Amino acid sequence: MSKECNNQSCTKESCEGCSHRQTDFSVAANAGSHIKKVIGVVSGKGGVGKSLVTSLMACSMREKGYKTAILDADVTGPSIPKMFGVHDKATQAPNNTIQPLYSAKGTAMMSVNLLLEEETDPVIWRGPIIANVVKQFWSDVCWGDVDYMFVDMPPGTGDVPLTVFQSLPLDGIIIVTTPQDLVSMIVSKAVHMADAMNVPILGIVENMSYFVCPNCGEKHFIFGNSDIHTVAANFAIPVATALPIDPNLARLCDSGKIEDWKLEGLNNLTALLESI
Ligand code: ADP
Repeated sequence: MSKECNNQSCTKESCEGCSHRQTDFSVAANAGSHIKKVIGVVSGKGGVGKSLVTSLMACSMREKGYKTAILDADVTGPSIPKMFGVHDKATQAPNNTIQPLYSAKGTAMMSVNLLLEEETDPVIWRGPIIANVVKQFWSDVCWGDVDYMFVDMPPGTGDVPLTVFQSLPLDGIIIVTTPQDLVSMIVSKAVHMADAMNVPILGIVENMSYFVCPNCGEKHFIFGNSDIHTVAANFAIPVATALPIDPNLARLCDSGKIEDWKLEGLNNLTALLESI
C-alpha cells in the first residue's frame, strides 16, 4: 500500500513507499570546476593509511602529467594538507566561491584544516554538519580543470561516508586495507556499499603489507601473511598494489614532504586509474 505523504517537496530519504521520496542526492559541482574523474578512497577504520594512499595516488598521477586534486572528506581526521606541507588558509574568491590550495608540485586540495583558525582545533560537529561541509567542498570550491580528483573518504560505512557516496559523482573507489585488518569483512562491507551506490570498485591497496630489512633486504611480513589476494579474488577485484611499511615515507609525511618520496610500486595502480 502506498504511503503518500501529500508533500510535493518531500525530501525525506526514509519516506519509504511514497512517490515523492527523494532518490537523487547528487550535488552540482561549482561552475568553475571541470573535473574529469572522481575516485573515492575508503577504508574500514582510521589509521590504515587511507590518506597516505590518497596522497600517493595524486602524486603519481601528477608525475604522469595529469592535473590532480584531493578533496579531504575525512573532516574529523584531516591529514592531507599536513602531508603536503600546505598550511596557508583558503581564501574566498569572487561569487562566494573558495579557492583550493596547491602543493609545491601543483596538486589542488581542500580540507577543513585549511579553513580552521588553528589546524589543531578539533572538529566537534555532528554528522549532518560534517556531511554538508563535504558537499560544499564540491559545490563551493572553484577547482578549475582537474583530470583526477581523489576523495579521502571518512572511514567506515556510517552517515558521513554514505552522504559523500550519494552527493559526489564517484567514478570508482579504491579500498585501503592492512594485513591485520579483518580484511574479508571490511572488503565485503565496502563492496556492498559500493554496489548499493552503483559505484565500481577499481582495486584494493594493501598498505603496511611487509617491511624490507635495510641491512639484508629480506621482506618481513610483520602482521602475518596476507590473504588479500584470496579475498580480492572472491570479490573479483584486482589487488592494485601492496605497499611496505617504510619509515622514510612516514618521516616525509610527518614533515609535509610526501611529494619527495620516490614513487615505486604504483604502476599497477596508475594503470588502473588510467583505464577508467
Ligand atoms: P588514515 O587516513 O587511514 O587514518 P593515514 O594515511 O593518516 O591513515 O596514516 C596514519 C599514519 O600511518 C601516518 O602517520 C602515516 O604516515 C603512517 N603510515 C601510513 N602508511 C604507512 C606506510 N606504508 N609506512 C609508514 N608509515 C605509514
